[in-house]
Amino acid sequence: YSAKADGGGYRFYGYEIDRHLQARRATREALESALQENRLALYLQPIVDLRDGRPVGAEALLRWVRADGTVLAPDSFLWAVHDDPLMEQIGRWVIVTGVALLRAWQCREALSGMTLALNVSDWELRKKGFCESLDQLTAGEHPIDYDRLHLEIVETAALSDRKEIVDVLSQCVARGISVYLDDFGTGHASLSHLSEMPVSGVKIDRRFVAQIDNVSQSRSLVQAIIGMAEPFGHAVVAEGIERPEQTEQLLGLGCRYGQGYLYGRPMPADAFCDWAAAQHAAREPGLA
Ligand code: C2E
Ligand code: MG
Ligand code: MG
Ligand code: MG
Repeated sequence: YSAKADGGGYRFYGYEIDRHLQARRATREALESALQENRLALYLQPIVDLRDGRPVGAEALLRWVRADGTVLAPDSFLWAVHDDPLMEQIGRWVIVTGVALLRAWQCREALSGMTLALNVSDWELRKKGFCESLDQLTAGEHPIDYDRLHLEIVETAALSDRKEIVDVLSQCVARGISVYLDDFGTGHASLSHLSEMPVSGVKIDRRFVAQIDNVSQSRSLVQAIIGMAEPFGHAVVAEGIERPEQTEQLLGLGCRYGQGYLYGRPMPADAFCDWAAAQHAAREPGLA
């Protein structure tokens, strides 16, 4: 068993437990300093309309930029704060930073219509006053339009403590925020779960998309996943698109939006602004 997979130490024995706890503590401490020293960053990955490749928004992906310049992806450190109050602080930082980005985008022509998707953990959502604190952040002289804010919650997390999660997601949706079930297909959401979940869309995990253009079972699986979301009118976003053939297959199955290295890698916020401006100029010559 890997420590990463279950986030807990109870499957370890003897010195393995010690080693795991030590690693967790060390990572946690370093991460806490990173947060204080402002060394976390949100990288942005474009989300596009698959029909023409036009960017419609971005997903914010957490990064830890270490003193030596190396950039760490969340899978290498978030395990250490799973079920830890520090996760709440990091989640708060993500939201504050994300809202600030949206605010900055409002006055940029190429960015003003774009949505920003933030990943939230069930731990944050269950915290009292989640929506109220969002309201405070987004209000002010230049309020944020909730239409442009998307929240992603992983399918498996959405199914835990369902009543509480459904309540807070309903409050989000009532404000006009779009909620997406992330890594959809990897959990065990049933049609009845989906019918009671106040979500606007689903994101198909990239493991299903990876072989869609050359393994027929993979294609059938994605078809089934889309078939589950369609009756509810959910938007479908595919992750991990690396080849044009995957886009073709996805469009054929009724998936309209996607993201992946084919369109753009996660990049620092400034790079994303430049990228979006270039896309905008290329698509609307004369307005550049
Ligand atoms: P996710 O939300 O499903 O994000 C998609 C992951 O797929 C990202 O990994 C992204 O870099 C990667 N990806 C995108 N396109 C491609 C592609 O074409 N090929 C391949 N091979 N990979 C692609 P990343 O950035 O390492 O994030 C991993 C996970 O960490 C995310 O999965 C999300 O669940 C979590 N995460 C990221 N940021 C946050 C955050 O701010 N808060 C929380 N709670 N979780 C976060
Ligand atoms: Mg996500
Ligand atoms: Mg995902
Ligand atoms: Mg994922």
